[in-house]
Amino acid sequence: PLSTTDHIEPHRISVCVRKRPFNKPEITRKEIDVVSIPGKGALLVHEPKQKVDLTKYLDNQVFHFDYSFNETATNDLVYKFTAKPLVQSIFDGGMATCFAYGQTGSGKTHTMGGDFTGKQQNSSKGIYALAAQDVFAYMNHRRYANLDLSVYVSFFEIYNGKVYDLLNKKTKLRVLEDERQQVQVVGLEEVYVTTSEEVIKIIQMGSSCRTSGQTSANANSSRSHAILQIVLRRNDRATTMHGKFSLVDLAGNERGTDVSSNDRITLVETAEINRSLLALKECIRSLGMNSDHIPFRMSTLTKVLRDSFIGEKSKTCMIAMVSPGLASCEYTMNTLRYADRVK
Ligand code: ADP
Ligand code: MG
Repeated sequence: PLSTTDHIEPHRISVCVRKRPFNKPEITRKEIDVVSIPGKGALLVHEPKQKVDLTKYLDNQVFHFDYSFNETATNDLVYKFTAKPLVQSIFDGGMATCFAYGQTGSGKTHTMGGDFTGKQQNSSKGIYALAAQDVFAYMNHRRYANLDLSVYVSFFEIYNGKVYDLLNKKTKLRVLEDERQQVQVVGLEEVYVTTSEEVIKIIQMGSSCRTSGQTSANANSSRSHAILQIVLRRNDRATTMHGKFSLVDLAGNERGTDVSSNDRITLVETAEINRSLLALKECIRSLGMNSDHIPFRMSTLTKVLRDSFIGEKSKTCMIAMVSPGLASCEYTMNTLRYADRVK
């Protein structure tokens, strides 16, 4: 990962969009594709050829991002231009975050690679695994050998504003802020790891106990944020953190009233998801403007990520996921507007 041709210097904040391919039911329904990626960074939401009244929310809208990935992009490719450049920054002592944002079913978990709950065990590696591989490649590189680092991972979930440790039987944990404004998740399990295979095993273990909805398999994980943290610590000063990479599979950004009746998201859940996604937007914007005031206290999500928004070496990447179909158009536009605001 250290070859110069491979290395992309990351921006402080990069915002990318990924369009997923149609799935089988959508093909069967002959869903209409309304999302085009005409170039490296552009994305167009357009009127389909067929005659449909779209005046409500379709107006040939073009958005521009650092990268726009079309439906043929692999996880490897997406990784290379999003999270990969951030791996080096944690070795250089920085805090990095990578967010997967979008409506439920748009491909967040597919991209992150955090679905090890059964049906997708054979799918290609996602960003979690690819980043873990690169972390160990850097660990073995002579440039960083004299730092004498160790790697630890944590994996937790934020549901309704509460933190649950996915590596410790979903224990509910408290978030504390001390007088120096340091935020701590008290008792969060941090597992020492020496290979990327160990990291993948840990993700599999943690993923299998994510929050499941009462009525629908699809609700599994859609209302909670899952946060995988890869932490580098100096062996000489065991308590000192050298760098941290937070990989966040965000809760679905769709709204309560839009969810089908047998899978109704509660008002409390909706309010909490709205609050945290709004807080995240504000924090990333403040980071981008080099503001002294980062409103991290607005939500549990931003509180636990405080480290990532503070400090000169903080880098953030957001990958906004969109579904291609006309039926998802309203959600897609919401996602694109949000992504457009944070860049
Ligand atoms: P989310 O986590 O945003 O709710 P998922 O990642 O679970 O969405 O994706 C929903 C479905 O679409 C899954 O079956 C997943 O495998 C599939 N999918 C998503 N993105 C892609 C992609 N880029 N290529 C192929 N299949 C995808
Ligand atoms: Mg998911």
